[in-house]
Amino acid sequence: MTGKLIIISAPSGCGKSTIINHIMEEGTRDLQFSVSATNRLPRPGEVDGVNYYFLTDDEFKTRVANGEFVEFEEVYPGRYYGTLRSELENRLSNGHNIILDIDVKGGVNVKKQFGDQAVSIFIQPPSIKALRQRLEGRGTDAPDVINQRVGRAEYELTFAPQYDHIVVNDQLDTAINETKTLIDSFI
Ligand code: 5GP
Repeated sequence: MTGKLIIISAPSGCGKSTIINHIMEEGTRDLQFSVSATNRLPRPGEVDGVNYYFLTDDEFKTRVANGEFVEFEEVYPGRYYGTLRSELENRLSNGHNIILDIDVKGGVNVKKQFGDQAVSIFIQPPSIKALRQRLEGRGTDAPDVINQRVGRAEYELTFAPQYDHIVVNDQLDTAINETKTLIDSFI
């Protein structure tokens, strides 16, 4: 039996990581997380091989040249992120399902490549205004960074219609339940 892919994308600040972590921590489904590669530096607490495979610019380029990526994108200027074939192939052929937390272009790309073997879910903020309030409420970003994130969110929202499903994260519990239901009915 071949496993399936669950692609989850969302603008930053929409609660995507919280939703994914919650579903993974339940541990009730055969779901494994696809660890992406990136050339960005680890944040405090992030572990190589767990959160990401942290690569140097040269290592990332070499792996691109060797055709090791299913997809990769320059998500922020000079910051590359990609899904390694090695993260998907064996596990899929062993029948395991895999969840991918990837940006909008990567999400659309993987869905095109895998067709019915993948479901794509877009987590959407109730509104741009609500997203701005959430980012401001977090208090972790300077105003210009918030403006940048909101601007990027507006761009990312234009990809939502290309996803199989849209989950609006107004109430976190409801969004988690809706996402779980979509995953369960797909796998
Ligand atoms: P962060 O640096 O905050 O961990 O992630 C930034 C963005 O990169 C997020 O939107 C995340 O979904 C995206 N991302 C993480 N891994 C991949 C990947 O393998 N491919 C693509 N296309 N985007 C990714």
